[in-house]
Amino acid sequence: MNETKIILPDRDIPRQWYNIMADMPNLPKPPLHPGTKQPIGPDDLKAIFPMSLIEQEVSTQRWIDIPEEVHKIYSLWRPSPLYRAHRLEAALNTPAKIYYKYEGVSPAGSHKPNTSIPQAYYNKKAGVKRIATETGAGQWGSALALAGSLFGIDVTVYMVKVSFNQKPYRRIAMETWGATVHASPSTITNSGRKILEADPDSPGSLGIAISEAVEDAATHDDTNYALGSVLNHVLLHQTVIGLEAKKQFELAGDYPDVIIGCCGGGSNLGGVSFPFLQDKINGKQLRVIAAEPISCPTLTKGEFRYDFGDTAGLTPLMMMYTLGHDFMPPGIHAGGLRYHADAPLVCQLYKDNLIEAVAFGQTACFEAAIQFAKTEGLIPAPESSHAIRGAIDEALRAKEEGKEKTIFFNLSGHGYLDMTAYEDYLAGKLVDYAYPDEKIKEALAKLPVI
Ligand SMILES: *Cc1c(COP(=O)(O)O)cnc(C)c1O
Repeated sequence: MNETKIILPDRDIPRQWYNIMADMPNLPKPPLHPGTKQPIGPDDLKAIFPMSLIEQEVSTQRWIDIPEEVHKIYSLWRPSPLYRAHRLEAALNTPAKIYYKYEGVSPAGSHKPNTSIPQAYYNKKAGVKRIATETGAGQWGSALALAGSLFGIDVTVYMVKVSFNQKPYRRIAMETWGATVHASPSTITNSGRKILEADPDSPGSLGIAISEAVEDAATHDDTNYALGSVLNHVLLHQTVIGLEAKKQFELAGDYPDVIIGCCGGGSNLGGVSFPFLQDKINGKQLRVIAAEPISCPTLTKGEFRYDFGDTAGLTPLMMMYTLGHDFMPPGIHAGGLRYHADAPLVCQLYKDNLIEAVAFGQTACFEAAIQFAKTEGLIPAPESSHAIRGAIDEALRAKEEGKEKTIFFNLSGHGYLDMTAYEDYLAGKLVDYAYPDEKIKEALAKLPVI
């Protein structure tokens, strides 16, 4: 098959999400209550999540129905296209075939609406009036703002202050969809005020913004909380990516040898790879690679242990590869990859050698992004450029080895609101920053002993 763009017939969108918990050799260890350090039950989460999402969080049922209303909204931009990167292959002069799934076609420009839409839907059904959340560079906040506007739910977003100041366009997008956006740390919550007392100039972090949003939700009856990555139900919703891709590969008469996704919290990687990992668990040869930044090297340098999901220690403790919950990542441009840990599902699969990980510096990633933009046309999100770096490296290795191989990566979003990042790269202003090992040790020394 020689076509560049493989599209599924109109509305041929999956009717069910795939739950990898039905097939994993080892399930993740249970989340623990932040106070008692005992396993939490559904009741502990009721203050901030609707029961339907809590059920999905713990479900081991293999297939979970996508509600009709969610399916309808998915069809605004899904199925997303699978492209064969013929021009990139030619530029690399590689015997490898390179495919990518393009999630930048969603209204918010990334894969995140795949989960913001069902999360808003289930909250609406539960009678929730407002959702509080955090956002780093603004992709998750915009995805939830969009979903809130479609279902008539108010959305309050705590946006990491450094991005709030440096990246006004996503804030304006969120406000256009009707959300209220606060720079975090803010003076609205106890968690925010505490951080500001200690450091009035705090640039904020995802961990701090999560503390603020969780506190907001926990202290208001009509308000719930939503998370854009990490949790099991988020990765479940994202499996629409991989399920569509499987059908598209069938149409193309091909199947990937290697699947690559960038990894911040693990949701796009999980979404693109889990339906294929089901085949791997059943004996198929296949590699899945998480591509992360060297400045926030969670899987490649972190430790597998219980940690909080946020800075203040309000969330349950989860078993994750972590750099420590008060890890302060340097301000690289891939804001969506600056989280101190990864999804428990991805971490367990990494522990069990079903997923591999690599870390790249940001200049090597921008170099790959620009080669991609010049050959394939699309300008990728800085986060997605990590997956492109991984794919190009695999293609170059195939060339060295003189081997044919099918490489598949997820292009998680476009970069059209990240132009200052490209401007800095083109002006030679970007530097690589590998997070020092001593600093990681320092942050890890502060973790709770379980
Ligand atoms: C948020 C984001 C990521 C990182 O989040 P994951 O949960 O690891 O997928 C990657 N790419 C884009 C475009 C994003 O918006």
